[in-house]
Amino acid sequence: MSSPLEQAILDIGLPPEWHVAVEVRPRRSTLGIEVHPDGSVLIAVPEGVDTHEIVPILRGQADRIARAVAGRIAIGGVHPVKELVDGEHFSYLGRTYRLRLTEPAEQPVRLHGDWLELAVEPNGRPRGTALVAWYTAQGEAWIRDSVASFARGAGVPTPQTRVSDLGARWGVRERDGRIAVHWATFQLAQPLIELILAHELTHLRVGKHSSLFRQELRKLVPELSARERWLADVGSEVWLGATRQAA
Ligand SMILES: [Zn+2]
Repeated sequence: MSSPLEQAILDIGLPPEWHVAVEVRPRRSTLGIEVHPDGSVLIAVPEGVDTHEIVPILRGQADRIARAVAGRIAIGGVHPVKELVDGEHFSYLGRTYRLRLTEPAEQPVRLHGDWLELAVEPNGRPRGTALVAWYTAQGEAWIRDSVASFARGAGVPTPQTRVSDLGARWGVRERDGRIAVHWATFQLAQPLIELILAHELTHLRVGKHSSLFRQELRKLVPELSARERWLADVGSEVWLGATRQAA
């Protein structure tokens, strides 16, 4: 950033790791702020507007920009549909495993080396819901082991948690103060699971995605924006449970 306008934006004190670009748009009459899916922020400025006029407007919009950027915590994109056949790829805690169908067993899913083993039903069919149940149980164990230390870091009492299907959301703070995390989250690398957990824990203290929220969240996740971009990059690769029949 080098122009007087860009310098003025720096002076407002938006987080330095945000990719903020400024474009002069001759046809615009008002200031526009666009947050792109990759997390970059574009500030569209009408032609001929003086820097001194823009700075206070931007300052007043800082919270709106923060909310828009934090809004990327939602799961976006088109997600894969998996075929439950030997060799299909599944991720768990950021590592890729290949599916191997096994004989019917009491414990239908287990990790074995580089393989994710799924026992077929007595009728010979594999069931995707067994995998969802396995991710859910693994996720519950992960959260149980981690939530207390993260809550301490966030300065909140350890909340009750649950793991379930949250539709298009990675996590949610529920009305009763519980925190819910999507089962699909546990396909992600641990730093991303930590980001999602830290985000919801921070909501126990700050309800809205304000600049205060980001300031508090950054205490738990110092490289916040880089991790949010990472999550936005890989989020659409996550399997949300859709399967198709083998041909
Ligand atoms: Zn949130």
